[in-house]
Amino acid sequence: MSDHQCMNSITGTFITPDDEGFDAARQAWNLAVDQRPAAVAYANDAADVAAAVRMAAERGLRVAVQGPGHGAAVLGDLADTLLLKTMRMTGLELDPAARRARVEAGVLWADVAVAAGEHGLAGLHGSSPDVSVVGYSLGGGLGWLGRRHGLACNSVVAAEVVTADGEPRRVGPDEEPDLFWALRGGGGAFAAVTALEFELVSLTEVYAGWLVWEADAGREVVHAYREWARRAPREVTTALRFLHLPPFPDVPEPLRDRPVVTVDGAFLGDEADGAELLRPLREVAAPLVMDTFATIPAPGLVRLHGDPEQPVPGIGDGLQLRELTPEAADAFVEVGGPGSGSPLLGLELRQLGGALAEAPDGAGALAALPDEFTLFGVGIAMGDGMAEAIDGHLERVKQAMAPWRGGIYLNFAEHVGRDVADAFDDGTYARLREIKARYDRGDLFRSNHPVEPALRLAAT
Ligand SMILES: Cc1cc2nc3c(=O)[nH]c(=O)nc-3n(C[C@H](O)[C@H](O)[C@H](O)COP(=O)(O)OP(=O)(O)OC[C@H]3O[C@@H](n4cnc5c(N)ncnc54)[C@H](O)[C@@H]3O)c2cc1C
Repeated sequence: MSDHQCMNSITGTFITPDDEGFDAARQAWNLAVDQRPAAVAYANDAADVAAAVRMAAERGLRVAVQGPGHGAAVLGDLADTLLLKTMRMTGLELDPAARRARVEAGVLWADVAVAAGEHGLAGLHGSSPDVSVVGYSLGGGLGWLGRRHGLACNSVVAAEVVTADGEPRRVGPDEEPDLFWALRGGGGAFAAVTALEFELVSLTEVYAGWLVWEADAGREVVHAYREWARRAPREVTTALRFLHLPPFPDVPEPLRDRPVVTVDGAFLGDEADGAELLRPLREVAAPLVMDTFATIPAPGLVRLHGDPEQPVPGIGDGLQLRELTPEAADAFVEVGGPGSGSPLLGLELRQLGGALAEAPDGAGALAALPDEFTLFGVGIAMGDGMAEAIDGHLERVKQAMAPWRGGIYLNFAEHVGRDVADAFDDGTYARLREIKARYDRGDLFRSNHPVEPALRLAAT
């Protein structure tokens, strides 16, 4: 491999476009993204991260820190950027008595779910088993325990980082508190995170599963769900989806190549109470195609949603819905349900509210999500014209839902150029910009949630 002399202090691998293996190295989990960085470095540890950051700064390159790369679509042109991959940093430590975990930057949620589950504990993971804890938590972290326990970023108690000057630092409520605040929901623009420490919750079992109807029942199901969701207790967190899965063998037979409408989710309580809670949905007049709700071991939640675990060419985008009024529900059915002509694999509503809407004491930059639902649509860009068809339909969805549009949830905003400022109130965004200027005045870190350094500080 060429150019290794500049990386003497890096024990990991450094790959330039002239090296064999560059094409494999530059790939992200999202295969729809054609990343063309100046070079790729694989870090083995925090010292490698520091060496790579210093090397990039010396050479006038920017740094994009990347775990598996589910969020790669938003990074933009990487021609001037060192892509710093963390997937070899897989250290995971648990302190069951303190109900805390420490994970290095490459640790995936599936690994935490299994390890924590052995002690009757769980982290606030989302629907994908193979997103990194760090990438997910930096953007907020919205998962099945959310309405009861809040956003994952606010369960973070400390971080180990390398800042743009190449210095390793530990941040927490009493050490670099501003940087600690920014990292919790403000994204990856402030530093390279080498490890995170976060709180776990006690959980051994959950009542979880899917209810599935033919897509033709969409209007009835969406309206019933709308009514049901606003009365639901915070112990339950669910999602409603219009789904059209491909005819692949790993897709359960009743769902293969068949348009359906589904409600999946988790209830933190016993089976009898869970069954009673779901009764209004089970009583929707249309017959159920599938009903898998049952008491399951808590680690099973990380795979509940059926998110793909192998890289896929996904094109998606999302927006927040202030309120799912009857008119909004109709508009949602119009763009996702039967007759919509949707080329999407899935169009979904994730239920917010409960603890997700309440800022906990000492919250980070993303304190809460005030809207009623997160909406997210995704398609798989395989075959001629699919990418354009998906993009076009996502635009149609956004226009149709515009009257009810709330804020932006950055983990589900996947379009380059999306203004991060819109995801925060003015005061929060101004504070993020000041912290960016203090720790990364030269904008070394290229993030999927870019924050512009404040000019006032940047000029001093
Ligand atoms: C199938 C799928 C399911 C999802 N489900 C959920 C969900 O249920 N809830 C939810 O909230 N989100 C969800 N997301 C969104 C996901 O959390 C974001 O896309 C997240 O950014 C991706 O995580 P990743 O670990 O793959 O990050 P990457 O794409 O590897 O990184 C994303 C960004 O995070 C930053 N970053 C990553 N690692 C570091 C680091 N070590 N130091 C500094 N910055 C870093 C960088 O800015 C990077 O661009 C889902 C995404 C997909 C594709």
